[in-house]
Amino acid sequence: ASINEYYDIAFKVMLLGDSAVGKTCLLVRFKDGAFLGGNFIATVGIDFRIWDTAGQERFRSVTHAYYRDAQALLLLYDITSKPSFDNIRAWLTEIHEHAQKDVVIMLLGNKSDMAAERVVKTEDGEKLAKEYGVPFMETSAKTGVNVDLAFQAIGKELKHRA
Ligand code: GDP
Ligand code: MG
Repeated sequence: ASINEYYDIAFKVMLLGDSAVGKTCLLVRFKDGAFLGGNFIATVGIDFRIWDTAGQERFRSVTHAYYRDAQALLLLYDITSKPSFDNIRAWLTEIHEHAQKDVVIMLLGNKSDMAAERVVKTEDGEKLAKEYGVPFMETSAKTGVNVDLAFQAIGKELKHRA
């Protein structure tokens, strides 16, 4: 039996956000957790096909075609980088223009372990998320805080809509 037969549904999830916010680290952390720690994916019964943006975000050239067929988008900023937070509005505008109408979006404030260098308050992330009607969490790809929880929330929402 192929591994895919263990899963009910497969979803394309994409990681978006400015360069260096931690997209690749978050993906690596999630995959490690899924393989080493647990049975989360099997339990939820979904298979995430996660696409990382491999550097294109640096040149603002993540093509629309790239996420047009994504069912979920994880949009990241770095809590130690004000520009990465300020750019979230531009990302959301782009997304609303080009992504599927019913795409599941989640806003993540990453690097929550870097408390001393924090420049974006938790409540500012919450406010922005509320304004756009998307769920929000602060994560740390370094320590793993909230990483599984974020993917779990996305998974539940996707399954709900399927
Ligand atoms: P990407 O360009 O969005 O894919 O960002 P990367 O995943 O390559 O991470 C950029 C830098 O931030 C690297 O030096 C990572 O080690 C660091 N980084 C990523 N996530 C975290 C985190 O949660 N906490 C800390 N302290 N550093 C992080
Ligand atoms: Mg990367």
